[in-house]
Amino acid sequence: MEENILEKYKKAGSITATIREDLLKKIKPGMKILEIAEYVDAEIEKRGGKPAFPVNISINEITAHDTPRANDDREVKEGDLVKIDIGVHVDGYIGDMAFTYCSKPSPLIKANQEVLEEAIKILKPGITVAEIGKTIQDAAEKRGFGLITNLTGHTLDKYVFHGQPSILNVDNDSDYVFKEGDVLALEPFLTESNSTVKESGIIEIYRYMQDRPVRLAEARQILAKARDEFKQLPFAKRWLYKKFSPVKVALSMRQLEEAMAVETYPVLKNRNNNPVSQAEHTIVLIKNGHVVTTR
Ligand code: MN
Ligand code: MN
Repeated sequence: MEENILEKYKKAGSITATIREDLLKKIKPGMKILEIAEYVDAEIEKRGGKPAFPVNISINEITAHDTPRANDDREVKEGDLVKIDIGVHVDGYIGDMAFTYCSKPSPLIKANQEVLEEAIKILKPGITVAEIGKTIQDAAEKRGFGLITNLTGHTLDKYVFHGQPSILNVDNDSDYVFKEGDVLALEPFLTESNSTVKESGIIEIYRYMQDRPVRLAEARQILAKARDEFKQLPFAKRWLYKKFSPVKVALSMRQLEEAMAVETYPVLKNRNNNPVSQAEHTIVLIKNGHVVTTR
């Protein structure tokens, strides 16, 4: 990887790390999740990055893809497992980082961080998807916890935030080999015992997919914005209210969804409703080793 590209990955990653440290000092029970999201949005901008996706704030059994609605009045409560997943890009080079906040000490969160670190330790050119999956599964089992088995890590590329292959968090038979210059996001989700997530009906996050004819002028404007301004990366419905009324946004998103102009990210929930934690880092493979960009 060229040095100037690695520098951009590091800059994006260090913005996520700084925001994590700030949030760990700031978040207290009673804080609104909308306040957390607005803080993250503002800090990314202030520090010279752009959001690679809307911050996901997913609480307890809600596992991923939740982001506050406009006027969202949900608050962090005592003992909640609050997963905060932050994506920043610098000229398209992405840092993808997640951590879990809880007002009380949580063995689940501690184990999750350790599982992630065990997997990061083995990363270098030549490592396979299967070796990573087995390491994560063994590390979780050793600590007496289960995994969300249908959520995976992924690769990253310029303006591509979920590249192939998927990096399974369980033992698997993929002999896909990673090479120098590959960028990986590892993100095990731990819970009481192995489980899977299912989609809920709530959608707050979308992504540009293709140009399609739609009737509403606002729908056409939103699609152009998703393509050109959001660079075909995921965006939040919340972000559109600066320019469009809630009614127009609702109608537009329905038209764009029906026309298959946008991809949707429904909120994901643990099927058995047990609370879930998450830990994630972005890692660049370099000669004989790796660099974690998001700490
Ligand atoms: Mn993430
Ligand atoms: Mn990720």
